[in-house]
Amino acid sequence: MAIQWFPGHMNKAKKAVAERVKDIDVVIEMLDARLPASSANPMIAQLTRGKPALKILNKQDLADPQRTRQWIDYYKGKSHTQAIGLDAGERSPAKKLIDACLDLVPNRGSVDRPLRVLICGIPNVGKSTLINSMTGRRVAKAGNEPGVTKGEQRIILADGFWLFDTPGMLWPKIIVEQGGYNLAASGAVGRNAMDEEEVALELLAYLGQHYAKELATRYGLKEDVETLRDEELLEAIGRRRGAMLGGGRVNMQKAAEIVLTDFRAGAIGRITLETPDEWRVWEEESKAR
Ligand code: GDP
Repeated sequence: MAIQWFPGHMNKAKKAVAERVKDIDVVIEMLDARLPASSANPMIAQLTRGKPALKILNKQDLADPQRTRQWIDYYKGKSHTQAIGLDAGERSPAKKLIDACLDLVPNRGSVDRPLRVLICGIPNVGKSTLINSMTGRRVAKAGNEPGVTKGEQRIILADGFWLFDTPGMLWPKIIVEQGGYNLAASGAVGRNAMDEEEVALELLAYLGQHYAKELATRYGLKEDVETLRDEELLEAIGRRRGAMLGGGRVNMQKAAEIVLTDFRAGAIGRITLETPDEWRVWEEESKAR
């Protein structure tokens, strides 16, 4: 497998979540709308089986709106599951979130019987940003690099609505190979656990097939993007951007950094790297391996 990313201190988080979940009515899992399945943590599914679930597809401002709708429909088709799209620009995220939870557990939500919700998600998915915007203060640290530890806390979002933050960190476990590449492309994997050129090539192979127009526009490519191999695409982008070594050769590492930085910032366009159908196929393939 190309991306290896199994950092430590998972067991502690696992135990803490298992303990916490006993008194929880709804489990919210925050996902990255650009890669909903890849950014899910299989351990969360395992620990919270049978609990009503709300999937938040976050950073929807960066994702392909049509595909976000597909994913929301996909999750809503599962039993006891709700799904909403969200991004940091949302005006009243708390209301949207509370409404979706009440929809799942309508008999709670009063002062006597508060709705108790646990929010989890892999690092960098935007959990602190959301909590901060809902509480109007900085209760959790937001940062660009994965790996900042945050303590457990109960947040009273409204009368009869308690939100618990996940104790400890829940990292993604990479089972599906393409999922590893998608996580790496999104910036959720530490730089030392990935080869940027390899990740950029995988990303370009996908974008060349599904977002050729966006690529051509962003980099002013005259070539027929869909017919180019991933190396040829990276090279063409490097040339357009002046990422050159001596002797007219393209600096592929530099070109890879440009592509990854642009993708993460949404500069290539609103892009989603997987659909429910594609994910199903990738999962089958990884089982067959
Ligand atoms: P956490 O590790 O899950 O708590 O993630 P953070 O809240 O620290 O967010 C990680 C990064 O994603 C930060 O740079 C945020 O500014 C950015 N971010 C969070 N939510 C959104 C969003 O909805 N849209 C975009 N474009 N960026 C976001």
